[in-house]
Amino acid sequence: MSEQIKIVLTDDEMPKQWYNIQADLPQPLPPPVTKDGTPIGPDALAPVFPMNLIEQEVSTQRWIDIPEPVLDILKIWRPSPLCRALRLEKALNTPAKIYYKNEGVSPAGSHKANTAVPQAYYNKIFGIKRLTSETGAGQWGSSIAMACKLIGLECKVYMVRISFDQKPFRKMMMNTWGAECIASPSNQTNTGRQILAQDPNTPGSLAIAISEAIEDAVTSKDTRYCLGSVLNHVLMHQTIIGLETKKQFAKINVTPDVVIGCCGGGSNFAGMAFPFISDKMNGKDIRIIGVEPEACPTLTRGPYVYDSGDVAMMTPLLAMHSLGHAFVPEPIHAGGLRYHGMAPLVSHVLRYGLIEATAVPQLECYKSAVLFAQTEGFIPAPETSHAIAQAIREANRAREEGKERVILINWSGHGLMDLSGYQAYFDGKLHDYAMAQADLDLSLSKIKDLPKPPAKVG
Ligand SMILES: *Cc1c(COP(=O)(O)O)cnc(C)c1O
Repeated sequence: MSEQIKIVLTDDEMPKQWYNIQADLPQPLPPPVTKDGTPIGPDALAPVFPMNLIEQEVSTQRWIDIPEPVLDILKIWRPSPLCRALRLEKALNTPAKIYYKNEGVSPAGSHKANTAVPQAYYNKIFGIKRLTSETGAGQWGSSIAMACKLIGLECKVYMVRISFDQKPFRKMMMNTWGAECIASPSNQTNTGRQILAQDPNTPGSLAIAISEAIEDAVTSKDTRYCLGSVLNHVLMHQTIIGLETKKQFAKINVTPDVVIGCCGGGSNFAGMAFPFISDKMNGKDIRIIGVEPEACPTLTRGPYVYDSGDVAMMTPLLAMHSLGHAFVPEPIHAGGLRYHGMAPLVSHVLRYGLIEATAVPQLECYKSAVLFAQTEGFIPAPETSHAIAQAIREANRAREEGKERVILINWSGHGLMDLSGYQAYFDGKLHDYAMAQADLDLSLSKIKDLPKPPAKVG
């Protein structure tokens, strides 16, 4: 084993700009619109987000400087290592070379801190004192709590009731970083009070938590709202992952043939994929695969439509692949992948053939995650296990075809706060859920009267 396992960059080699794929798209992204199809301008978003982030959201400038104070904080855990999964390769008896970019080394344990820090920073310099957000399983809530403490903002997180009760450790992390975390629905917003009046025992949902966090932000002094995925600026902040990876591969003179990431809202996948898509548009032969759960197959079975980001339809309509905003996915353990929509930018590059998408079942994901843990040591998040499952499929195919392919996994986070899912798997309590066509049809029938996105060009 004289092979190099870990490819690292020095602090100084960390990228100093983000890559904005909006500069290079074959066609521009359709704008967000209202329910009657009117495009929404930046000013309409001003009560919710600070103008400097709204400007990033619509920017078409190819490279955007990462502010010095943001670089200083990212350096706590970045550049993150790129590792060769040599022991996993051996276990699979594959000629493929498998590499993984370990985003689980951030303080909160996932890639989400990469955007939490700049979002907190831009709010701070805009004069904002307090941020609100929502969290499902708690990965985003803990990242934004940490970022707010390091930057110097107050932070309040609305956490979906069922996760709040079942996953107390994420809340304790948020409290340790000085943030307030309350169960949603709460009695502190109109939306929350209305829902509790109808059903005091509701488990809550991400959509309700989003509504509460936005209501809090627009009705409180010096407060704005923030989101951990889906939006253009969030995906751009994550491109530091792919930019670092390209530098790391350049050091060992390797280029990947297949790039794989799991897709919830699309941010970790985009962060790795977009810098490689730019090579693909320049003629490089590379496959880029987004992986989602069969239980929530947004890219593979959801149509490309205008839909809202939440059940209450508080957000503008976004052009994206969607299962319909009323779709409630089965309770799979990969909570971060249970979202009805997909980032407009990820949906757009799929529509223009720059990426592929695939869906994998839950049990295959856990089996793959356990093999990874038992060969490479690190225990992956349930979300990350989807990327690993697909990488294993590709490695097996490489063996069958006798090809020495280079496979790259974006290892989005560790699973140390999600061990109950592993226990359920060992106890034989987990199932595969394929989404029923009738459920999808019903959910889509509720958005059939919304405006339609422009036809594909070319
Ligand atoms: C939140 C999360 C995801 C899914 O979100 P994306 O925006 O699609 O990246 C994936 N992996 C981990 C570890 C997460 O915390």
